Amino acid sequence: MSEHTAPHRTPNFSAGPATIPTEVLQRAQSEMLDWQGRGVSVMEVSHRSKEYIAITEKAESKLRSLMDIPDNYKVLFLQGGASLQFSAIPLNLLNNGRADYLSTGTWSDKAIKEAKRYAKLGLGEVNVVASGKQSNFTDVPASDEWNLSDDAKYFHYCANETIHGLQIFEPPKVDVPLIVDMSSNILSQPIDVSKFGMIYAGAQKNIGPAGLVIVIIREDLLNQASDWCPLLMNYTHQAEKESMSNTPATYSWYLAGLVFDWLEEQGGVEAIGKINQQKADLLYQTIDDSDFYNNPVAKQYRSIMNVPFTLADDSLDKVFLEESEKAGLLHLKGHRDVGGMRASIYNAVSLEWVEQLVDFMQDFEKKYA
Ligand code: PMP
Repeated sequence: MSEHTAPHRTPNFSAGPATIPTEVLQRAQSEMLDWQGRGVSVMEVSHRSKEYIAITEKAESKLRSLMDIPDNYKVLFLQGGASLQFSAIPLNLLNNGRADYLSTGTWSDKAIKEAKRYAKLGLGEVNVVASGKQSNFTDVPASDEWNLSDDAKYFHYCANETIHGLQIFEPPKVDVPLIVDMSSNILSQPIDVSKFGMIYAGAQKNIGPAGLVIVIIREDLLNQASDWCPLLMNYTHQAEKESMSNTPATYSWYLAGLVFDWLEEQGGVEAIGKINQQKADLLYQTIDDSDFYNNPVAKQYRSIMNVPFTLADDSLDKVFLEESEKAGLLHLKGHRDVGGMRASIYNAVSLEWVEQLVDFMQDFEKKYA
């Protein structure tokens, strides 16, 4: 293949690990054997070397600039995924008090379940303010019905329920620090970081490969960890050690930095946010215009990153998946909790790929409806 031929990349709608921009993979490939003319790959150098530290500093400063992160927030590049933060949050912040949690789907419920384990051990109390379970997580209970605590240490929610395709666009208006799981919507649209106490996100959707989780935490929330908190999960300790208490996920961190470069080249979060909106509008319009496809989520909460949909006749699910794969459209199977299909349309999924998907859906409907 000549250097100028774009490599074939299969439209990939995986929920995560998800597609990574082609340019990022090409750059990583070009640097794989000989990084900066050193005859070694990034994976083979000490995380304490000044060359590697330069990578981490650049990644952090790019992320700060892309998200406009204020100076009074620490940015941590940790391991254990978003799931380990479900435990780290109560261990760092509950501190014998109460915490409020909003239940909107599988991921916020996992965070609740984990926090409750620590509450049971005597670390504090966990209060679920409301749950969308009655609607099968297709809607969010109205905020005036939430059973908020008077004295919560924090309020936790998931901004984008990856499985249910439900997104909360406006940060809840509460008087305590907001702790938000943004694993599947970070960097997809501009947000005001200063509205949050802490934002966390696993990397394997909009940031890069798995193995890395990003924690953005306001400094006044540090120095409160329980004595039980494992050192590696202690945000204060990790902030002091610049996320290098032990050997970090060096290659994932490097790739995250390349994704941040790519995002900057696309015009940043505002520009990608407009394309994301276009992609989501196109897909939801196709679904809504048809009696063959259905998305059950209340319109104001429809995720712009994960679009689940069902077929009117679920005996066609298997055929849809077989034919879509044959047509070169990958990973459209919905999560078993919801059934049907799901198209995850993260930053690196192009509008063209979504157009191909929509064409396929319309042809399939004509053939089988
Ligand atoms: N939160 C959300 C919203 C997710 O989508 C996921 C993973 N799909 C997680 C948390 C868990 O992430 P991890 O596998 O990195 O622990």
